[in-house]
Amino acid sequence: MDNIRILDKEFKLFITEEQIQETVREMALRMNQELKGKKVFLIGILNGCFMFVSDLVRNLDFDCTITFLKLASYQGTSSTGKVKRLIGLNEDIKDQTVVILEDIVDTGTTLDFIQKQLKGYEPAEIKVATLLYKPEACRQDVPLDYVGMEIPDDFVVGYGLDYNGFGRNLRQIYTVIE
Ligand code: 5GP
Repeated sequence: MDNIRILDKEFKLFITEEQIQETVREMALRMNQELKGKKVFLIGILNGCFMFVSDLVRNLDFDCTITFLKLASYQGTSSTGKVKRLIGLNEDIKDQTVVILEDIVDTGTTLDFIQKQLKGYEPAEIKVATLLYKPEACRQDVPLDYVGMEIPDDFVVGYGLDYNGFGRNLRQIYTVIE
């Protein structure tokens, strides 16, 4: 199916299942080479990363633990309104090699926030792996160690990424038709 409809929007096929799987395998290969011999703490950022993490880790052959964190927004008392916080980190990551696993880096704001939060736990190093990266949209200076694909600044769904909660189950990635 090349074109799909989700709620009020039309999307067209952008990245096939085969291309995604090949990209994930290549990322895993590089990670295997560079992280071999280290004990690695993998942290997936929910919700969008779940398919990526599940495919990636099956191709990793170094010692690693895997956990997931979620970024929760709640209404703050300050005038800025929304306040974000990271929830779900119960493990001790002090002096460990941490790899953040993201589905997509867009403006980079989320990743920047997560990195700053995690630095407070004093890991030995923090690396970042993202399946998709929108260089034209990125406003933050966030170093990305493993990038699957660079994509244009258009809205995409599928393979974990949603449009208003729908589309996460799609095996391919679709881009919005304006
Ligand atoms: P940021 O702009 O902070 O880098 O990205 C914030 C979050 O927005 C991402 O983690 C992802 O959940 C969501 N996001 C950014 N771009 C897209 C997109 O093209 N499609 C979907 N479904 N979500 C996106």
